[in-house]
Amino acid sequence: MADYDVIVIGGGPGGYVCAIRCAQLGLKTACVEGRESLGGTCLNVGCIPSKALLHATHELHEAEHNFAKMGLKGKSPSVDWKQMLTYKQEVIDGNTKGIEFLFKKNKIDWIKGWGSIPEAGKVKVGDDVHNAKSIVIATGSEPSSLPGIEIDEKTVVTSTGALSLNKIPKSMVVIGAGVIGLEMGSVYARLGADVTVVEYLDAITPGMDGEVSKNFQKILTKQGLKFVMGAAVQSVDVKNGKATVNYQLRKDESNASIEAETVLVATGRKPYTDGLGLEGVGVEMLPRGQVKTDAHWQTTAKGIYAIGDAVTGPMLAHKAEDEGMAVAEVIAGKHGHVNYEVIPSVIYTSPEVASVGQTEEALKQDGRAYKVGKFSFMGNGRAKAVFQSDGFVKLIADKETDRILGCHIIGPGAGDLIHEICVAMEFGASAQDVALTCHAHPTFSEAVREAALACGDGAIHA
Ligand code: FAD
Repeated sequence: MADYDVIVIGGGPGGYVCAIRCAQLGLKTACVEGRESLGGTCLNVGCIPSKALLHATHELHEAEHNFAKMGLKGKSPSVDWKQMLTYKQEVIDGNTKGIEFLFKKNKIDWIKGWGSIPEAGKVKVGDDVHNAKSIVIATGSEPSSLPGIEIDEKTVVTSTGALSLNKIPKSMVVIGAGVIGLEMGSVYARLGADVTVVEYLDAITPGMDGEVSKNFQKILTKQGLKFVMGAAVQSVDVKNGKATVNYQLRKDESNASIEAETVLVATGRKPYTDGLGLEGVGVEMLPRGQVKTDAHWQTTAKGIYAIGDAVTGPMLAHKAEDEGMAVAEVIAGKHGHVNYEVIPSVIYTSPEVASVGQTEEALKQDGRAYKVGKFSFMGNGRAKAVFQSDGFVKLIADKETDRILGCHIIGPGAGDLIHEICVAMEFGASAQDVALTCHAHPTFSEAVREAALACGDGAIHA
């Protein structure tokens, strides 16, 4: 039992970042985490392990498809799945231990166990009750499923099960063509599984720029992923370790089914606030299960704040981190701010897909006049040299003022390239500002500059 200035409940990217910033600002801080390791969904069963598997399988793809072209001949590597999972676990451990180190360095107490809030200013973990002037709820999210589907994490899995399958399945059905489904689908397709993605809508990755989404689907199809679009999954039956996914096509209401060794249910995530006792302390919830907060992440109960996947907004680690830092500043009496207009989102497939700001579709709906500068990676020397000339950069700027409104990239290194535009948008830059900035040659970044040039007098290499 101890007295703290701040207790953060949840040690994911929202919670641990918040705890570190609170400690840096001189507040006596503890973080409650029930998992065996810090880092939350992101480090344990999310961003980091999925990127490890994406990396390993991307390298495999390079060896199988591109090495010989570069004169690197010889046997392609064979897959040792057990070792790949060990590598993935080592990556997780390295990262989660890193957070433990940062907690020690910043003198943050990790209170191990599941926390609840019995009354304002108190956090209960096991039999201990700790006092806190401020409490931050950073309890994250959990996978959501569909009615008619029973998850067993063996044959019918969520992303968590998909990161640790016993063996590489021969066939996989992915329900849901969102980021997680397509990333994990790519991993198993590269490992030789026959992957079919079943999606309710008519386009993959809802909310993404339409042109990018179409192009992305074409590229994934070329890579061997199959798509069943406009299909409402009704149920999944499991018999003798084999699954049958039953769906109805929306266009004509016809019924069909596909069999698979493994079914990945990737239909989204929902906020996780179970067991916190929020109703008892006057913390109001929104209809979709998020904790209700004001513009300063304060819930409806004084001294209790909430951030990350547990509140509204995109369910992304960096959004949670930014809120974690900002709410720490607010608690310390400073000015915390998150610019929700400039939160990038990235899909780590190959090629990567990244976007920030407005899409053309949204601008059309708002009736705002805009212009588009586009540049294909076909015109980028570096991309051609590394067999990654699929895709393009699309920059959107205000028609009159030239101020950048959004950017959508599909192509090599898109997840890193997007940040040039994030910074530009933070500074209120125009497309011409980017176009006039000298970019090193030969880099993928030149494609961003060319797209900015295309917003004005024209790209050079188009
Ligand atoms: P979480 O990371 O979910 O952490 C919450 C923590 O709180 C958990 O560790 C939980 O154990 C703990 N907790 C909950 N209740 C209690 C309690 N009562 N007491 C104590 N502890 C509690 N995002 C990206 O930005 N980039 C990506 O590439 C990406 N890839 C992803 C891949 C997958 C497969 C998945 C599933 C997610 C991915 N995400 C990605 C999303 C990202 O993981 C989340 O947005 C992020 O983890 C949210 O952070 P958080 O701190 O809000 O919650």
